[in-house]
Amino acid sequence: MLLRRVGQQPRKVAVEPHPDGPEYFYGIDILQAAIDQTPDQRPTRRLRQEARELLPAEWAEQLEKAWSPEQPHIDIPPGLFWDETPQPTTQRLTEPVRSRTSGGCLLCTWSRGGKAYCRECLKEAEEGLFSDRGFDEPWKEAVLWSLRTLAEVEFGGPPAVNQLKKPPADGNNADLLMLCRILTCRRGWTEMGAERNAYAWTDWLADAGLLTDGFRASRGVTVMAKDGHICRSLLEREIDDFFHEHGIAHEPEPDYPYDSEHNVGGYRADWKLADGRVCCTIR
Ligand SMILES: [Zn+2]
Repeated sequence: MLLRRVGQQPRKVAVEPHPDGPEYFYGIDILQAAIDQTPDQRPTRRLRQEARELLPAEWAEQLEKAWSPEQPHIDIPPGLFWDETPQPTTQRLTEPVRSRTSGGCLLCTWSRGGKAYCRECLKEAEEGLFSDRGFDEPWKEAVLWSLRTLAEVEFGGPPAVNQLKKPPADGNNADLLMLCRILTCRRGWTEMGAERNAYAWTDWLADAGLLTDGFRASRGVTVMAKDGHICRSLLEREIDDFFHEHGIAHEPEPDYPYDSEHNVGGYRADWKLADGRVCCTIR
């Protein structure tokens, strides 16, 4: 069948068991392929109307496209493994878009439990939805928009990748900031034939225009140190570069321990050193 598809007419077919075992089909795990082929019975995941209105229409579209069920990579003719014709996508259950008052996830129509966000949305916000394979894909502009929004609304400068692992604080912008976390790209590998190298985190920030000395955030200038750490002032960068050049392991901006007398506001130190000491610039 596969040969016929590529215009070949097989005359003789010799069959013998595959050395790796009967469950494997020339290196393809047929069981997994069959599972992938089985339609997901869950309704298509969509944005809730209120969440959709927070995003430019194009980015909402890109997000739902990424959420729509993936096509299986291996094209297995229907009925090859069992008598089952794949269910056409139009026959999927459709779920009406619920309003916010009815409970469930505030972002999407996949509702799990009484939490504000479903498990899928939380996971995607923690990890970012997209993977860069070295091509400028249609969702790229959505990622850049999200990074700028995070910088302007939440962080006052380009976010560090670790800062995005935590969900945003409750408040008016929480849904928007969750969607921005989802619409980021934090994974990447360069595929064969790629147009460019897969972006590192700082490439995304640079492309979003967030790493130039001219980016003025509410907390001041943002600059990048030699080791890629993001600094909030030129003095910070100088100190960070000092650590880097002297081989001192340092992690920028750990949360400063809360102290009811001395640190009520939960100020952040600028660096944490390998021995646990924290170090900060005087502001
Ligand atoms: Zn959700």
